[in-house]
Formats: sequence, C-alpha cells, structure tokens
Amino acid sequence: MTSGQYSDKDIRHEASRRRTFAVISHPDAGKSTTTEALALHARAIGQAGATHGKAGRRATVSDWMQMEQDRGISISSAALQFEYRDAVFNLVDTPGHADFSEDTYRVLSAVDCAVMLIDAAKGLEAQTMKLFEVCAHRNIPIITVINKWDRPGLDALELMDEVQQRTGLLPTPITWPVGQSGDFRGVLDRTSGEYTKYTRTDGGATIAGEDTYTAEAAADLEGDAWTTAVDESDLLEMEDQNHDQETFLAGKSTPVMFASAVLNFGIHKLLDLLVDLAPPAEARLDKDDEPRPVDDPFSGFVFKVQAGMDSNHRDRLAYIRVCSGVFERGTVLTHASTGKPFATKYAQQVFGRDRDVVDEAFPGDVVGLVNASALRVGDSLYLDKKVEFPGIPTFSPEHFMVIRAKDSSKYKQFRRGIEQLDHEGVIQVLRSDLRGDQAPVLGAVGPMQFEVAEDRMTNEFNAPCTLERLNFSLARRTTPECVPTLARERSVEVLHRSDGELLALFSDRWRLQGVQKNHPDLVLEPLVVS
Ligand code: GDP
Repeated sequence: MTSGQYSDKDIRHEASRRRTFAVISHPDAGKSTTTEALALHARAIGQAGATHGKAGRRATVSDWMQMEQDRGISISSAALQFEYRDAVFNLVDTPGHADFSEDTYRVLSAVDCAVMLIDAAKGLEAQTMKLFEVCAHRNIPIITVINKWDRPGLDALELMDEVQQRTGLLPTPITWPVGQSGDFRGVLDRTSGEYTKYTRTDGGATIAGEDTYTAEAAADLEGDAWTTAVDESDLLEMEDQNHDQETFLAGKSTPVMFASAVLNFGIHKLLDLLVDLAPPAEARLDKDDEPRPVDDPFSGFVFKVQAGMDSNHRDRLAYIRVCSGVFERGTVLTHASTGKPFATKYAQQVFGRDRDVVDEAFPGDVVGLVNASALRVGDSLYLDKKVEFPGIPTFSPEHFMVIRAKDSSKYKQFRRGIEQLDHEGVIQVLRSDLRGDQAPVLGAVGPMQFEVAEDRMTNEFNAPCTLERLNFSLARRTTPECVPTLARERSVEVLHRSDGELLALFSDRWRLQGVQKNHPDLVLEPLVVS
C-alpha cells in the first residue's frame, strides 16, 4: 500500500525519526528557557555542522524570528518542530500557568515522552508531583532534568532519594554533576566515564562551551570535586541505579541528567538523550486496544481545541496528533464519531503570529486544522480504514461555581460562550433541572480556569457574567438509581455533566464518607483518569 508518493517503508522511516515530547515542570523551574535552548541549540548545531567546541553564537530575538521564517524550526501555539541529528522533534507545548489544568493532561495524551524539569533548589514541588502522576497513568516515559545546577541548591544524592521515595520511579543518572549545586563545573558521563567540562560563553550564546576529558585528566583538573563525583557515581552503581531502557519505557525508571538551561549547560546532552532513549512514533492502541500500525492509512486524534486566538482569524482550530499514515492537505477525512466527511483544505500550522500551510505530516507530528467547529477534544479522524482512538478522560473537578449572564438580553451569546468553553475543555459544564439552563455550574481543576472563562465570556462572546462559588470540593460518579437517596442528603448535589456522566458533589471527603457510611450501597466512584 502506498499513500501518495510515500511507500509504507517511507512512512515507517519517518515515524521512526519522530520524537514527540513535552517539557513539563512546576512553574519557574525553567520550562520556557529549556524549550528555547533546545530549539536554538539543535538549530545552531545543524547550521554550524559542529557538535562540540566553543562555536557558540549569539541568539537574539530577531534570530528567533528569522529561524521561524527559514522553517528550520517552526513555532506554533501547539508544537515546535525542529531537526537534530537524523531525528525530527515535535516539542508539544503545555500550558504555562500555575494552575494544573485539564489542558496539560490532554496535551500529554499527544506525546510519547516527557522531559521533567526539577529546580535543584526546590526539589519536587506540588505540580511536579501531579505531573509525575499523570505520566504514570498514561505510561509516559520520563527523562528527568535537574535544572539550575549553577545555583546553590540541594545535594544531588538527596535529590535522587527524594525522586525515588516520592514518585516510586528509580532514578538512573546518565550524567552526574562535578561540583555541588552553585559550583557547576561539568558532568561525569556515567556511561563512558569521561568528563564533560562546561565553560561559560557570552550571554545569549546558543551552545555552551563543552570539552571532554578522560577520567585521569579530569582528576588533575578538578581534584576533590571529581573524586566526589566518581565516589557518588559508584554508590549509585552499587544500588543498581543504572539506565535500563526497558524499565524506562515501562515507566518504572527515569534517566536523570543535570543541567543549567539558562547557561545552555546540558542542553546538548538532553537532545542526544531524546534521540537515543525517547521512543519514536509507534503503533497506537485504538478504543478496542487494537494497535493502529504507523503505515496504515492516515489517522489522528484531536488533543486540543482553540478559538479566538487572533481577532483577524476568528475561527476554531483543532490540533491533531498524527498516529498513522501521511497527512496530506486537501484530503477529505472521516470524522469517526459522526461518520461525516471532514475536508482538510484549510489545514494549517500556526507559526507565531503568522500562519503557514502544512502540506504533509507524518506519525508523531502535530497539525492544526482550521474551521474545525465540528471537532471536539478526543475525536478521531481517519482515511479509508476506520479507527477510533480512546477518548481523553477528564480530570475530577475540585472547584465549582455557578455562572449567570449579567444581562439577560445576552442569553444567546451566553449560551454560545458556555458551549464553546465546554468544547475546548476550559471548564466542565454541569447542569440540573433544579438549577435550570440560565445558571449552570462550572467545574474546574484549578481556580484560574474560572478567570479564563469569565474573561473570555466578557471579551470574546460579549456576554458579561457573574460567578458565585459553591461549597463543594469533591465529585463522584453516580447512577440515576442513586439520585433519590442522594437528593435527601444535606449539602450534596447531583448534576449532569455535558459528556453524560452523572456527578454527585460533596463539600469534602468527610461529608462523602458520612454519606457512604449511611448508604453503603450507593454508587460513588472516583473519576479516575485512565
Ligand atoms: P518556566 O516558568 O518553567 O517556563 O520557567 P522559565 O524558563 O521562565 O524560568 C524561570 C526563571 O528561572 C527565569 O528567570 C529564568 O531565567 C531562570 N532560569 C531558568 N533556568 C535556569 C538555570 O538553569 N539557572 C538559573 N540560575 N536560572 C534559570
């Protein structure tokens, strides 16, 4: 079988070159710095043809724009694509704000690997833990980067203990720091036993100065700092903390490296690890757990929907991750959940502020489809051979607010806005006969989602609204049979979510436990992610 000008072999080759990943972290750990450094470094190496040495060059904002234009890297609001060695990277963007939102979870459904940044001074923070959990749920292998090693922080061995104890993953350092945090001299490469010494380059240079030395030369150069690094690495060896590809891919161990993104230290190594260790785009399981081989006809699923990004383009974008075959602009695909055709003549990639047409994409790539009002997060699209990928489950909301239109004459706009925000997954919409359609309840994982919703209702949908907090913090899935019993309980409310789930809301877990104790037969299941 062939797809246009590409043979199955070509498609398998392209898929095997793809590394589709996200950089994730607690805010401020250096996600933006690392993202930029990765792209610029890959680009600079490609240009200079050099992989070592002090060939650092200044990267400026205009450089960045120029790179966009050159198409060496492409910046979109959803994914950054660039090449390094023989690999094609798709760095999928995750929301940067402090609240853990549904969005992050959805985006992670589109990647094959995650780079987890940990701030050397802070260790594991609240969001780091949540993100580790999400990756565990989805079996996403994690490469851990201890960032900001140029600043005083925690002890390296203690950090490894913390990772192991709190995440359950076995940390298997690939590199080990020479010099404590705050005194970053370089790293011991635990695979080769060699020393990579870092030297600072001019501010803004894309490539850090890196020189490689043998262990003997390193001992002469760094003295005690080198001996300590070797001793600590031996300790890790004794604990069997060495990289193992199988347990890494199974989400049981995590390779670790030390870096300073702001100085570009370790960025080169991270790119290499992504090529050498991160999994390529592979067959994806459908709803029935059947694998869809990468060389099957085109298929993909929507992992993000966005609207109103630019007042000049007031359309709706659906971002798909390609799972199999070649995406070719102009093809008419089938929308799996409705069976209706979906024309892709408007398929585009968004580059920064400008849009550029995408003509083709391979498994692992991300494509933005415009005029995609029929598509919802989790929907599948395919060509010729039907496939439906598993839906993207939603998180259990922990914050609830009633929303009302300030101006009743704007009810139409109000309804349209709510529906749109629901489709995009900005908030979850819950309704009941009791509350009526004029005052639905919004559910969110983090309170910032409400701020986004309120702002967009006012400015984008021209439907100013008021929000009123409800005293619930916990949702459980229930069944219609349980509703009469639950309705008699005080401070418990049952609502329908727009995806058809029936949710019972409780003020806190003590209230939930009380109800469960009185009525042990009630169905009250946690909204687990799968
Ligand atoms: P994000 O919120 O995770 O995207 O973090 P940013 O990339 O915006 O970084 C947050 C702050 O940490 C910025 O002031 C960066 O300059 C700084 N930063 C990032 N990486 C490093 C690093 O390796 N060393 C030091 N000293 N600062 C860093």
